[in-house]
Amino acid sequence: MLHTVSVTVRVDIDQGVVQLAITECLTAESHHCLIPLILRARGINPFGMVLVDLTAARHIEEAGLTSLRSAIEIVEHEEPGQPVRFLTPEVLPPCLMADAVAGGEHR
Ligand SMILES: [Zn+2]
Repeated sequence: MLHTVSVTVRVDIDQGVVQLAITECLTAESHHCLIPLILRARGINPFGMVLVDLTAARHIEEAGLTSLRSAIEIVEHEEPGQPVRFLTPEVLPPCLMADAVAGGEHR
């Protein structure tokens, strides 16, 4: 697998924030893995918010980010409660690894 996604969960009890720090690659394929984690993070933190931090991701595919956001929006609409916020870099990084291997095919 060229594009793998990795998630570190940090719970800040004082601030009431569950942070999911996403590293590696967020793609249209890998975004599915994040949905149950985000939902679980909402469950851990019934009074706070969930922060999905993508600023350290190595690769973000726009389709993956859009699909992830809309999936979470639907959940938030159906089950109002803890807000989920996304922190994204201004420019979505392409996959350097895929570039090296496939000559830019995965941009
Ligand atoms: Zn990638």
